[in-house]
Amino acid sequence: MICVFVTLWFKLFRKIFLAETDVLIIGCGIAGATAALRLARDSKRRIAVITRAPEARESNTRYAQGGIIGRGPGDSADLLFNDIVAAGAGVTLPKAARILADEGPPLLNEILEKTAGVIFDHEASGEPLWGQEAAHSRRRILHVGDLTGMAIAERLISTLRNFDNINIQTDATAVDLITFPHHSRDPLDNYRPISCHGAYVFNRSQKTVHRHLANTTILATGGLGRIYRNTTNPVGARGDGLAMAHRAGARIANAEYIQFHPTALAAPGAEGLLISEAVRGEGGVLLTPDLKPFMHKYSPEWKDLAPRDVVARAIHHEMEACGFSYVLLDLASHMEAEKIRTRFPFIYNECLKVGLDISREPVPVVPAAHYFCGGVLVDEWSRSSIENLYAVGEISCTGVHGANRLASTSLLEGLVWGNRAAIDIERTLGSTGPPPKFEDVPPWDESNLSAEPDPALIQGDMQTIQNIMWHYVGLVRSADRLSRAIRELRHLWNEIETFYRTTKLSDGLIGLRNAVEVALIVAQAAQHNRQSRGCHYRTDAVEVEGDRLI
Ligand SMILES: Cc1cc2nc3c(=O)[nH]c(=O)nc-3n(C[C@H](O)[C@H](O)[C@H](O)COP(=O)(O)OP(=O)(O)OC[C@H]3O[C@@H](n4cnc5c(N)ncnc54)[C@H](O)[C@@H]3O)c2cc1C
Repeated sequence: MICVFVTLWFKLFRKIFLAETDVLIIGCGIAGATAALRLARDSKRRIAVITRAPEARESNTRYAQGGIIGRGPGDSADLLFNDIVAAGAGVTLPKAARILADEGPPLLNEILEKTAGVIFDHEASGEPLWGQEAAHSRRRILHVGDLTGMAIAERLISTLRNFDNINIQTDATAVDLITFPHHSRDPLDNYRPISCHGAYVFNRSQKTVHRHLANTTILATGGLGRIYRNTTNPVGARGDGLAMAHRAGARIANAEYIQFHPTALAAPGAEGLLISEAVRGEGGVLLTPDLKPFMHKYSPEWKDLAPRDVVARAIHHEMEACGFSYVLLDLASHMEAEKIRTRFPFIYNECLKVGLDISREPVPVVPAAHYFCGGVLVDEWSRSSIENLYAVGEISCTGVHGANRLASTSLLEGLVWGNRAAIDIERTLGSTGPPPKFEDVPPWDESNLSAEPDPALIQGDMQTIQNIMWHYVGLVRSADRLSRAIRELRHLWNEIETFYRTTKLSDGLIGLRNAVEVALIVAQAAQHNRQSRGCHYRTDAVEVEGDRLI
C-alpha cells in the first residue's frame, strides 16, 4: 500500500515539477510555430511548445497588419535582395538577405498557404491582391485585410493542434535557460563549452517552477517593444528571451537598432494602435496639424514612402521643432471611403471606437517603438553561440535587417529561420546525446521567499524603465542621454534584482527583471556605437570615411 502511494506521489511530483522532451520551443508566434510544424513530421519526436500567454495565438505575430512578402508581378529574388540590403544601411549580412529573398516567398506558399491553409486576399480570378509598402521596389505584400497576423497565428496554431506529438502549454513563462556549467553539479563542466538543456518554467496558474529538460531548445520569444513608453507591441514583448540568453552567456548583436514605427495612433484609449505602413502605401499622406505635407523636405525621392527611420525622424523633428504633440495621417483624401473600410477594416473599426473616422478625416499619429532588429546572434541555421540553443524570429539576429528592417520582412524571417532551425535539428538530434538527468539539475529553490510580489512596485518600476528608454534611448540619442540612461538603469537593475531575490515569482516580476536587463543591453549597445546608422540616430555621431572614424 505504502509502495503504491509512494509511486503515485512520485508520478504526480514528476508531472508537476519535471518535464522532458526532445525539443523545447519557448514561444509560439510565427517562428516557434513554424519550427514545431516541421519537427512534428516525425511522429516519434516529442515537441513541447510553451507560451507565457493564456492563449496560444497571443503574440506579436497576431497583431501584424500590413502583411508578408511574396513574389509579386515583375518581381524577383534579386530585386527583393537589393531592397533588403538598401534598407539595412550597410549592416545587412548579404548571405542572410540572400537566404530570405530566395527561400522566403516559396516557403510562404508551401507552409502558410498549403500546409496551414492561410488564404490571402485575392481577385476573383485567384490572382493575389499585391500590396505596396515603403522602400519596396515592387508590389509584393500578401495580406488578409489588415489582420494578416491574426489569420497566420490562428491557422498555424490550429495546424499544430493536429499533431499528437506537439504539446502546447499556455500560461507557462520560461524564467531561465538551464545551461551547463551554470546549473551543473559537476565542477568539471566548467571546462566545457556552454550548453543548453532546457529551461526553468513558471506555471502561472499553479505558481510553481519546474525543470523542463530538452535535448534542444529553441528561443522564439519575440521582441521587446514594451521596454518603451510608446510602442505598438503587446504586453508580452518585454525581451524575455534576450535576457535569458544574455544571462546564459550567448552572443548578442545589433541591440542598438530599435525600429520606431512612424505612425501609431495618438488618441486616448487607443495609444500605440499601429496605423500600418500599407496606409501610406495606398496613398496616405503625412501632414502637420495645420494640414501641410512635409515628407518632401526629408525625402524628395520617396516622400511618404521613405524608409521607416527617415519618416519616424522626420515626424519627430516636425514635432520637436514646431511644438506639435502629434502629426496627422490623411488617407481619406486619397482613397474612397468604401475602399478604406474594405482594405483596412481593423484600423477603421479601432479608430471608430475612439471617435475617429479614418475614411473621412485625418487621424493623429506619433512614432512608437516597433521592432527589434538585433538579438541573439545566430547563423544561417538559427544556431546561437550556445550548444543546443537555437533562436528564431524577432528575438534572433540573423543579420537580415542590419541597421533597419524593410517592412514586412519579419514574418518572413520567422518563417524561414523557424524552418531552418527545424531542418538543422532534424539533422543533428540523434547526435547531441540525451539531456542530463533530473538529478543532475538542481530544482528551483524558493524556500526562503515569503514576500508576495507587489503589483504597484512592478508597474512603477516598469513605467520608470519605459520612460528612461523613451527619453534617453529613443529616436534621437546622444552621449549625455545614453550615459544618464545607463546610470539610472543600473540603479534600477540593483533594486529589481534585490526585489527578485526576496519575492515569490510572478509573470510580472519575471518580465520586470528581464525588461531592465534588456534595457541596459540596448542602452549600452547604443552608447558603444558612435555612428548614426539606420534606426540608430545620434545627434553627436562621428563621421565615417571609408572604414575610418574622422
Ligand atoms: C502591431 C504590429 C504590426 C506588425 N506588422 C507586421 C507586418 O505587417 N509584417 C511583418 O512582417 N511584421 C510585422 N510586425 C512584426 C512581426 O509581427 C513580429 O516581428 C513577428 O510576428 C515576431 O514573431 P516571433 O515568432 O518572433 O514572436 P512573437 O510572435 O512575438 O511570439 C513570441 C512568443 O513567445 C512567447 N513568450 C515570450 N516570452 C516568453 C517567456 N518568458 N516564456 C514563454 N513564452 C514566452 C509569447 O507568448 C509568444 O508566444 C508587426 C508587429 C506589431 C507589434
